[in-house]
Amino acid sequence: MPMMRDFDAPEFRERYDCPLPLGCFCSKAGTEFRLWAPTAQAVTLRLYDAGDGGTFRLETALVRQDRGLWCYATAENWDGAYYDYLITVDGVARPTADPYARACCLNGERSMVLDLARTDPPGWDTDKAPALPPETVIYEIHVKDFSWDPASGVPEQYRGKFKALSLENTTLNGDGEHPTCLAYLKRLGVTHVQLMPAFDYGSVDEGGAPDQFNWGYDPVNYNVPEGSYSADPRHGQVRVREMKEAIQALHKNGLRVVMDVVYNHTYHADSWLERTVPGYYYRHNADGSASDGSGCGNDLATERSMCTRYILDSVLYWAEEYHIDGFRFDLMGLLDTDLMNVIRRALDQRFGPGEKLMLGEPWSAGATAARPGTVLADKAGMSCLDRHIAAFSDNIRDAVKGSLWSADAKGFVNGGGLDPARLVNCVRGWAYGPEAVGKAPSQTVAYLSCHDDWTLWDKLVYTSGARDFTACPPGLLRQNRLAAALLFACQGHLFMLSGEEFARTKLGLKNTYNAPLTVNRLDWSRAWENRALVDYYRGLIALRKGLPGLTDKSDRAGQRVLSVSAHGDNCAAILLDNSGPGSPWTRLLLAFNAGDWGITLPLPTGAWDVLADGNSSFLWQNPASVAGQASVPPVSALILGQR
Ligand code: CA
Repeated sequence: MPMMRDFDAPEFRERYDCPLPLGCFCSKAGTEFRLWAPTAQAVTLRLYDAGDGGTFRLETALVRQDRGLWCYATAENWDGAYYDYLITVDGVARPTADPYARACCLNGERSMVLDLARTDPPGWDTDKAPALPPETVIYEIHVKDFSWDPASGVPEQYRGKFKALSLENTTLNGDGEHPTCLAYLKRLGVTHVQLMPAFDYGSVDEGGAPDQFNWGYDPVNYNVPEGSYSADPRHGQVRVREMKEAIQALHKNGLRVVMDVVYNHTYHADSWLERTVPGYYYRHNADGSASDGSGCGNDLATERSMCTRYILDSVLYWAEEYHIDGFRFDLMGLLDTDLMNVIRRALDQRFGPGEKLMLGEPWSAGATAARPGTVLADKAGMSCLDRHIAAFSDNIRDAVKGSLWSADAKGFVNGGGLDPARLVNCVRGWAYGPEAVGKAPSQTVAYLSCHDDWTLWDKLVYTSGARDFTACPPGLLRQNRLAAALLFACQGHLFMLSGEEFARTKLGLKNTYNAPLTVNRLDWSRAWENRALVDYYRGLIALRKGLPGLTDKSDRAGQRVLSVSAHGDNCAAILLDNSGPGSPWTRLLLAFNAGDWGITLPLPTGAWDVLADGNSSFLWQNPASVAGQASVPPVSALILGQR
């Protein structure tokens, strides 16, 4: 049979598209290996009794079947054995781990046979995510930096590990009084915890020093948890169980879990996918060189049907096996809209409409060589995406605090001036600009900071002209509160970097992907020192959940903006229809004053409850009434509600 290497030819799809289950399956009934390798001439399974070195147990050929599928099955239960493949393509045999591996050895070079049922913690079969909240507030954490600080009160052996996420009652320095980690999140009121890459990545040696740090955007085994977050990365079943335990604990404490997934590129171009089907899973330029829209040296060819299938299988696997509640797609602008919509439909079918969250970055790091005709899931492709796939709005982010391309660039809250139209577009969650307007706020993720770029606090320090990032002057804290009030007034899903609520600093550093933990770790002492700011966020989160005018994700949500008015050069007021179930207030008046002088704001007719001002976001619990006019002090927000 002649080899077919035009992977984009319809004949290749027709001949080799394989809808059958792939990977290694192990249960009491036996063990089965299934690999898709249509261009291989031979595939050999090699079985070991250890992840590294160890005794060679078996070497056997997989049998070729239809559609490029290779299989081997035994009635024996090989749970706990390690394996790899020797795959011969064009006469050259190369070893590779299984691209579908669900468990692996230290650093992932060998895959592991795992009876997944045996990794379930007690109670896993009844583990259930909390009910869908009225609003999504995503809190982005990194497994290691979340609990690395000794002040977290986490026992040393658990710091930086999945295990720390399972601890329910940690306190500041173990004082028994001030909650940290999981207990802190529960009190803050966020609804979703987003885990930065928690799949197996390659930039940290799992057997090396414990204080290595990397964000982890360098996938090695897409369907395996990262080993450096495990108490024992040498035994592949441990990390699987520990990650399940972490998710179980988060669920039990009222938090849903979003996973950051990086399907746009792999750590090395010479990945398990490449060794299994050379050339198939990656995009190439016309001259044969690797496409590099990721800035990491390679781009996955997500538009090819079996690559689509691979990614879809991976997402469904995390959702089913680990009970993951949502997915954040890194550089979604490199993935294609068909893939994203296929994932959306599959998640909705299996788990119920909207049960699983999907969000992503609608951009890439550069141009990519996708197959002609491919529609990429970037800003320009938003109109082709399902309305329940959301994209980060850099326009909202930049309008509030200033562009990330220059440290000195200012936004509304830090002296950049007022553009009422831009501000109202933020509130509408429509702030994509002319290149693409979302269909509804369900397509928007409003945010001020994430792991990338300066923290909100560091940006405010830069634009103030100061360079002391650790000090917390009152003027900057006011700017931070104003920014938060504006964020929580944006329709769309809400997202925040962990620690944004306590003026987290990374000492002015912009890209800390491999910076030391001294820079990256969450500083739990600072969380306590800035508890007033934390409480301001906490009040806004609680208030927001009860305001239908802001939580409305429908395509009619934009019409809730009744009017916008400018008051001087730095203050705007927005009148909003807040009608809907569960709220005593039918209208909202949102005023934002970024100027150095107080503003006297004329109020629409009738009495207004003061729900929040620049100092407190809990006034709604026992609101004072105002009528006629209200004052908006310098650098502050005022949120009023009319019954
Ligand atoms: Ca790893």
